[in-house]
Amino acid sequence: MISTRKELADLLVDHGFWIPAGVPGLWGRTDRFEAIVRGFDGLIVEIARESGAERIEFPPVVSRDVIRQTGYMESFPELCGSIHSYREHCGRHLDLIDRVEEGGDWSPFLEQMELTLCPAACYPLYPAATGVLPEGGRCFDLSSYVFRAEPSDDPARMQAFRQRENVCMAGPEAVSDWRDEWSDRGLDLLRGLDLPATRVVAGDPFFGRGGKMLVANQIAQKLKFEVVVPVTSSEEPTAVCSFNYHEDKFGSAFDIRTSDGSIAHTACVGFGLERVTLALIATHGPKVAAWPAAVREALSL
Ligand code: ZN
Repeated sequence: MISTRKELADLLVDHGFWIPAGVPGLWGRTDRFEAIVRGFDGLIVEIARESGAERIEFPPVVSRDVIRQTGYMESFPELCGSIHSYREHCGRHLDLIDRVEEGGDWSPFLEQMELTLCPAACYPLYPAATGVLPEGGRCFDLSSYVFRAEPSDDPARMQAFRQRENVCMAGPEAVSDWRDEWSDRGLDLLRGLDLPATRVVAGDPFFGRGGKMLVANQIAQKLKFEVVVPVTSSEEPTAVCSFNYHEDKFGSAFDIRTSDGSIAHTACVGFGLERVTLALIATHGPKVAAWPAAVREALSL
């Protein structure tokens, strides 16, 4: 039975999965929750290892230049987590303290840093791959906490959450095939955990009027698939993973080339680790010991 957003949030706290952190979309995770996250993450890591992906970790912040070069502020300005701090040359330190103490907006006293919070686990990877790829391209396995400035009462819409991503950089055909293979794999994996998972063609929440055209184009060209599972609504199931073909967007922005010298295409597949875990709890209930034995075994629970 599917709970409402509030019922699910209460259930997660009452059953010791989550700890409220005082802001919509921000939650602490207990080890009871993390054990499920680790179990699922381990399955993806295993598939990535078998497929020869290079494992890399980046911190959950990214150079502001990457945000600029990818056009993030044109497409998703309202999701960005810009980082600002006080510098001595900003002056007016006592005014800053007053503003902080009165609970007001202290941003006028700060200076922008060269970093932003990372919006997707794959973003730091592209500038690191500038240059010529080996023949056959490269595949990566990475994970990161990511940030989206979208406070919500939906427990499945968090402001800070983890993505396990795999990324492929190669020629167009190889990348498109890789994305489709992962899409089949992802669907099989989730259905294998007895989740009522469905694959749908999807679009990103591009900003503004120009964004409507971008998303229409993205859907028409089937550049993005999502696998969705009912979590807080049967009518509007939650996306738990996405399979994104970027064509030459990142290859062009960061001059990534294939061994024959042409601009590389890229694709990424991202699993929302908390969302998959929420889907498991919503589907199988809060008592993990009562989950189907095969599901517990697959997740090492
Ligand atoms: Zn990505």
